[in-house]
Amino acid sequence: MNQIIGIDLGTTNSAVAYMTDDGPQLIPNALGSNLTPSVVGIDEDGRVLVGSAARELRVLHPDRCASVFKRYMGTDWTAKIAGKEFTPEELSSLVLRSLKADAEAFFKGEITRAVITVPAYFNDQQRKATMAAGKIAGLYVERILNEPTAAAIAYGFHRQDEEKSLLIFDLGGGTFDVSLVDLFDGTLEVKASSGESILGGEDFTRTLAGRVLERHGLSFEKAEMSSPLMVSRLLRLCEGAKVRLSREESTIIRMPNKNGDLEEDGKQITVTRREMEEWIGHILNRIELPVRRVLNDAKVTKDEIDEVILVGGATRMPVVADRVTKLLGKPPHCRLNPDEVVAMGAAVQAGLFAKHQSVDEMVVTDVAPFTLGIEISKQLGSERRSGYFMPIISRNTTIPISRSDIVTTLAPNQTTIMLKVYQGESRKVEDNLLLGKLEVKGIPPAAAGQEVEVRFTYDLNGVLEVEATVIATKKKMSTVITRHAKGGMTPQEIQQAQKDMERLKAHPREDSANRFLLRRAERVYQELSSDDRQFLSRLMDGFEEALSMQDAIAIESNREALESFLDRMDPNIDDLNQENE
Ligand code: AMP
Repeated sequence: MNQIIGIDLGTTNSAVAYMTDDGPQLIPNALGSNLTPSVVGIDEDGRVLVGSAARELRVLHPDRCASVFKRYMGTDWTAKIAGKEFTPEELSSLVLRSLKADAEAFFKGEITRAVITVPAYFNDQQRKATMAAGKIAGLYVERILNEPTAAAIAYGFHRQDEEKSLLIFDLGGGTFDVSLVDLFDGTLEVKASSGESILGGEDFTRTLAGRVLERHGLSFEKAEMSSPLMVSRLLRLCEGAKVRLSREESTIIRMPNKNGDLEEDGKQITVTRREMEEWIGHILNRIELPVRRVLNDAKVTKDEIDEVILVGGATRMPVVADRVTKLLGKPPHCRLNPDEVVAMGAAVQAGLFAKHQSVDEMVVTDVAPFTLGIEISKQLGSERRSGYFMPIISRNTTIPISRSDIVTTLAPNQTTIMLKVYQGESRKVEDNLLLGKLEVKGIPPAAAGQEVEVRFTYDLNGVLEVEATVIATKKKMSTVITRHAKGGMTPQEIQQAQKDMERLKAHPREDSANRFLLRRAERVYQELSSDDRQFLSRLMDGFEEALSMQDAIAIESNREALESFLDRMDPNIDDLNQENE
């Protein structure tokens, strides 16, 4: 099947969309929701759960689940779930596999091509890791697209005749990006991007949980070690409370006991929106520098911005919109759903690849968000000092871009040069990020000063290639960077991971709604008083029996009874599904 899908692979939630004649459309998952929580679990039968069911499982069995793994893409971090070790690439591939299955069910055919979004501020390793995750999931990644650019595309799609300067402010579950985008004559030009790769709603939830624990005389780190079940349930309760505080002035947070159970006479505290805003104030301060950087790099003043657009679930907090208003001197808006707009933009980009008739006029250009360069040494007086950064591609240069510079040998008869490739904005390499090394060999023995041309090519996916040419011999060196120890899977490792993940079985897709309901019922069971527990237990027994008998009529009636009881006892589930707007 030739269909290309657009995927927003988020820290908290993921979404998939496709292009139609009327514009981008989201594809619902097996539960009928447009958002799939980016949570992976392995149940007691050794089968993989992805999405809402895994999120429910996480509350009672955090050791069987992994979440927020996007934060670790391209690093050595692994998660042990149900005794098995997973890399962030593998966990992301399971989320992608689930979205691919949703799209395949929707189109009734195999899907193998996708555009996947990443935070603009994702570095080279994180981008390569995302591409690897796609491959492991059996998807050819047509393009790695920056999230704020995707959001701008979704906004720009219907307004191709307008001339506007847009600032996209994207605060999601785990990352923060800000981009300045110009829209003119059907062209969408990203002028500058900046951000922080570890800043988002998860930090607010953890801060809130930390304060709740503090009020009970506990520290977050210690509690996480000694009572992981208490912390996993508290985090879930705090996320719900945080979401409620976006529309209510105060809310109550119940304190689970050390086993993670909510007792009838257990402790609870009231938290006001004001308090929450105070607690997260220091985190929110960090949005200011990237915003200023973007305005500087794009050489625009805040008065020249026509619209400020909010993207990402965390921008629903009133304090975020207030801060943005103060910072930019105009109120922001979010006319498109901030949770869905990135996937929609990815679908438009997918439409551009597929030459979809509704987008054939649109041109999109993007930038490299970081400065890229190499380490050099400098002659300072009589001393030669190494550790200095020589930029080759400056941040916010339009991509694709290819630029070169010359380095020279320092000693007579020097036949090799070790090029160390860095990204970052510091004058010294120690404060920048080492991306990889390239050893230049075969320089003819001669006096010092032999020249080597170093060429950096930064492609549309934001992936860097480095090439070195010895000027005297015209000999070119390998273009592949020997990857830094952290991150970077080899093709063999990707193949192996593909096999390992294929071996993990998932439940049939048509069972998803039932599995989710049972997981939710198990969690709610532990939150109830004993009378209610007995009643719920009977409902669960009835539902499980109907499922095992495969009696369609009994399944339907038992499911309805169970669902309506859960909706009554657990009304805030929508706070986590973000369907509260
Ligand atoms: P995203 O990565 O864009 O899906 O954003 C997810 C983050 O947004 C999570 O940390 C959510 O808790 C947070 N979020 C979603 N809705 C709200 C809301 N109404 N108020 C506060 N935070 C929210």
